[in-house]
Amino acid sequence: MRNRSLIVFLGICALLTWAIPATAQNPAPVRPTAQGSAAPRGAGGDGLGFTDTPMLPGLPYHVHDPGRPHPPVVTPGAQPGAPPSDAIVLFDGKDLSQWTYDRRPMGGGGGRAMTDEMRARLQKAQESQPPLGWKLENGYMEVIPRAGDLLTKEKFGDVQVHVEFQFPENIQGQSQNRGNSGVLLQSRYEIQVLDSYRNPTYADGQVGAIYGQWPPLANASRRPGEWQTYDIVFEAPRFEGEKLVKPAYFTVIHNGVLLHNRKESMGPMIYRQVAHYAPQPAEDSLMLQNHSQPVRYRNIWIRRLKSYDQPEK
Ligand code: MG
Repeated sequence: MRNRSLIVFLGICALLTWAIPATAQNPAPVRPTAQGSAAPRGAGGDGLGFTDTPMLPGLPYHVHDPGRPHPPVVTPGAQPGAPPSDAIVLFDGKDLSQWTYDRRPMGGGGGRAMTDEMRARLQKAQESQPPLGWKLENGYMEVIPRAGDLLTKEKFGDVQVHVEFQFPENIQGQSQNRGNSGVLLQSRYEIQVLDSYRNPTYADGQVGAIYGQWPPLANASRRPGEWQTYDIVFEAPRFEGEKLVKPAYFTVIHNGVLLHNRKESMGPMIYRQVAHYAPQPAEDSLMLQNHSQPVRYRNIWIRRLKSYDQPEK
């Protein structure tokens, strides 16, 4: 008898420990019925949130606030890697209408850091070069040696960029002379493009490096001849007058592998020197570097990044 009472008592306790936290900690939001008659606790009656919840720290919103703006709808690309509905397509394999050329020295990104004297010398040397133009065929474009860097006509600040690239199957050169090119955000901040499949070079110059600053977290190279992908998130630096108030940051994914996780850039790409920031426009062209080696590109698109809680349109 005594045992039976104890069992009943323990049973009630177990039930209470299960039931009380379940209801106290996770009050299920009331979904609207077909008739719209059910109202959530403390919300306006539309069943889509709560206003009797705590305020989020530093924000004008409650937890689960029904009045918080909803993000815009973006339709993803039909296949992985295809541009989503709000992307600006920079190259779809058909034409180069979104691009212009800029003739600067081989490895041109450093051109931004050139002295006037270097620039003058370069201009002279360029007079003997072939006409501008990259090869366009079979849905890709290919670097033509000494034919200039490619710059987007449109200029950008904070962005997400998708780029696909391929190195020649027939390997030529080694170290920095095998498939060297580069994706330069704002024509300054380079993510290195280099055939780094079994091709040793200095770590901060291999594929995916923030060139001259940070090696990638991994070498995710595919064999030459195979198409590879970059997905890059770039936060542009901010200046107040001459003063840098926020540096640039890179997040980079190569063939699905994370290479940089919001890594701070030390400044614009420069060769054999320490990078440093200089005041610049808030937006500038995306650049594909011409390093006079036959790298191919296809399927390039870009999205302008927006901040959280933008008003709904
Ligand atoms: Mg390069």
